[in-house]
Amino acid sequence: MEKQVMFASIPPINELKERLSSCFPQVPEKLLLLAAREAASQIRSEILEGKRISLSKEEVFELAQKVLQEKLTPSLRRVINATGVVVHTNLGRSPLAKEALEAIQEVAAYYSNLEYDLAEGKRGSRYVHIEKIVREITGAEAALVVNNNAAAVLLTLNTLALGKEVIVSRGELVEIGGSFRIPDVMVRSGAILREVGTTNRTHLRDYEEAINENTALLLKVHKSNYALLGFTKEVSGKELVELGRKYNLPVVEDLGSGCFVDLTKFGLPKEPTVQEVLASGIDVVTFSGDKLLGGPQAGIIVGRKELIEQIRKNPLNRAVRIDKMTIAGLEATLRLYRDEKEALSKIPTLYFISLPPEEIKKKAKQLRRRLRKKLPKEVSLKIIQTTSRVGGGAMPLSNPISYALVIDTPKFTAAKLERALRNSSPPIIGRIENERFLLDMRTVFPEEFSVITEVLANILGEA
Ligand SMILES: *Cc1c(COP(=O)(O)O)cnc(C)c1O
Repeated sequence: MEKQVMFASIPPINELKERLSSCFPQVPEKLLLLAAREAASQIRSEILEGKRISLSKEEVFELAQKVLQEKLTPSLRRVINATGVVVHTNLGRSPLAKEALEAIQEVAAYYSNLEYDLAEGKRGSRYVHIEKIVREITGAEAALVVNNNAAAVLLTLNTLALGKEVIVSRGELVEIGGSFRIPDVMVRSGAILREVGTTNRTHLRDYEEAINENTALLLKVHKSNYALLGFTKEVSGKELVELGRKYNLPVVEDLGSGCFVDLTKFGLPKEPTVQEVLASGIDVVTFSGDKLLGGPQAGIIVGRKELIEQIRKNPLNRAVRIDKMTIAGLEATLRLYRDEKEALSKIPTLYFISLPPEEIKKKAKQLRRRLRKKLPKEVSLKIIQTTSRVGGGAMPLSNPISYALVIDTPKFTAAKLERALRNSSPPIIGRIENERFLLDMRTVFPEEFSVITEVLANILGEA
């Protein structure tokens, strides 16, 4: 088709808008117009770039409809996580417990005592709500919460080491992803990085030799997302604490994920709990609210009272302040930890992490039964053993056993099926392994089975 002819078959904007209006009578005029203009303009560029060789009025209208549909769909949406990665940073890390959601709803919909002391009838502090429960669970002298753990590290270093040296092992200068690099954060905090040791080996004497009159503190960073294997040596928190005491220097640990429960009983590698790290004498510990803890995004700082007090008073604290909805969700999540059994059953992140393989297999069988009834015979549904991951930069070497449903159909390649499910509503995010598409059942909620069945029937047809 000639370009001129194609241009001529683009209907006038008003006509496009009127047609959209008949399909979407509730949508404001302005938005219909915007969709019509965007669709027409996209078609024009495609013609100019030679990407179209023919065009009908109908195609323009279909595109306008698609553009409008996109505008009507919220940008941030719920998805179904069938990747098997429990703390998936790209998929929103931790889904919250019902208790946390209820607390958020109550505090967000109404007024609250966020900064109001009900006993005294005067101004109070937003930090007391979390501090009480964190102290109770961890045994810390004091606690402070901020926007996230990156902010917790930044604020801690800025308060305790501005213009002074922070000694840290070269084996712990980690990048977490999303461009959080310990050395970069340290520079921005105004602290001076004093690297000691080598990539694989750092000794206590390396720290001791670096101490001088400008040293502010000793920093330990949890390696989180990678492991040092082979010819290695690192200094334990306990040894650092002894050194810190000798020279009257505080010892700070960025624990990263931060966990209150010993997960070795679920076959996972040993991660130091916040309680253990504090008991070893570390003065200030920082960790995330939404990794292994299973709460909302937050950074929690615990430790010695006078240090936490200094950190709380730092004017930068206002810039990384935690908001009331997060406080509500975090407090409710933390309260579940009073009873470990309750925490393990009600906090989705902990529940998924501690799920025994046979339970995952049971979920796979349940979903397969539903799908078998609904989907055409040509679609093959196999259950295979696989491994999932904890994620969130925690336990990088651990691959807990999981079960997945392999969906195979002559109509679709694995890549095509992956794309179709990713673009469905709600999006279903699975995994491709050995050119097979699979749904890892560890991270799928049983209440999601019916919508998964519906979406798959939509894509693959019904029996
Ligand atoms: C994840 C992580 C951070 C960043 O925490 P956010 O809560 O994502 O800001 C910092 N340090 C370590 C060691 C981590 O694992």
